[in-house]
Amino acid sequence: MGKSIKLFRIGGIPIGLHPSWFIIFLFLTYSLANGYFATRAAELPFAGIWALGLATSLLFFGSVLAHELGHAFVALRNKIPVKSISLFFLGGVAEIDREPSAPGEEFRIAIAGPMVSLTLALIFNSLAQVSGDLSYLSAAFSYLGRVNLLLGVFNLIPGFPMDGGRILRAAIWKITGDHFRATQAASFTGRLVAFGFIGYGVFSVFTGNLMGGIWMGFIGLFLLNLAGSASAQAKLQHKLQGVRVDQVMSRNYPSVPGETTLEQLVVSRLGDNSQGTFLVVDHEKPPGILTLREITKVPRHLWSRIKAKEVMKSWERSAQISPDTPVITALEKMERDDLRLMPVVDGLQVMGILSREQVRHYLRLRTELG
Ligand SMILES: [Zn+2]
Repeated sequence: MGKSIKLFRIGGIPIGLHPSWFIIFLFLTYSLANGYFATRAAELPFAGIWALGLATSLLFFGSVLAHELGHAFVALRNKIPVKSISLFFLGGVAEIDREPSAPGEEFRIAIAGPMVSLTLALIFNSLAQVSGDLSYLSAAFSYLGRVNLLLGVFNLIPGFPMDGGRILRAAIWKITGDHFRATQAASFTGRLVAFGFIGYGVFSVFTGNLMGGIWMGFIGLFLLNLAGSASAQAKLQHKLQGVRVDQVMSRNYPSVPGETTLEQLVVSRLGDNSQGTFLVVDHEKPPGILTLREITKVPRHLWSRIKAKEVMKSWERSAQISPDTPVITALEKMERDDLRLMPVVDGLQVMGILSREQVRHYLRLRTELG
């Protein structure tokens, strides 16, 4: 999923809308006004029907947001920072900074969302009851009651990445004490659920419900993808358990003065290291990293004039890591901040360089050596 547009904050949490959300918002508003309310609010003027459709659509997405805020606030209460909440065409997602560290935490965060949805279902249904005389209002409230009920129940399906899958994982984790096994089990049921959606989608397409079928298939593929990456992530974590950065990092990188031209570097220093990664030290600037990627961006005829320090990627203090950090933490940081390489620094001394390729290489070697 690409970047979402950050619009405002609630309780300090940035709320964003993905471009795909605007399409689904227009689609829902249109189908509410043109379909649902066209018959149930026929006594209203044309503009009134559309205003009601718009308001109901906004309240629906407000409900999705409330569901995510439920997860987010419980995460914050458990001292897990929440980076953002985004709404997109399949719903909402609250991005938390780290995975829960105990089953109880995971359970509380996971259950909070469906609880909010079920509470909202109750509230909207009660509002539908009391506004019985105004039938168009009652129609809007009972629609919102139904979708919130659906939102709560759907999310309780016990397959990862749905909330129910997280609850299942928390339960297995609690019973067995094994986070890895629990994740594997929850992502297995998640895959089953996803295949169920895809199967039902295909069935619907062949029995004449084209749009509904495609929609179901979409949801299935989305869930399948997330369940798969959760399982892969858990396997990676399992394999890298107890491995520190200094066991994986490369110590074998040449360090070159900042004044070196790219020409000199390529002609005389490339043989020093097959990975083509250089540490550039300069007395005026903090050190930086230069890789073949930066060098090849410079046109060939300029290589004799451009110096290493001019094209190196200088790093900030935040983009470095100490040798005793767990590799998995380093890897998460690289993924989060979109870093390919990270200098390993002990005090002021550069000890080595860690790259994602090295981690992959390390895993391959370990698998081959058994
Ligand atoms: Zn949820």
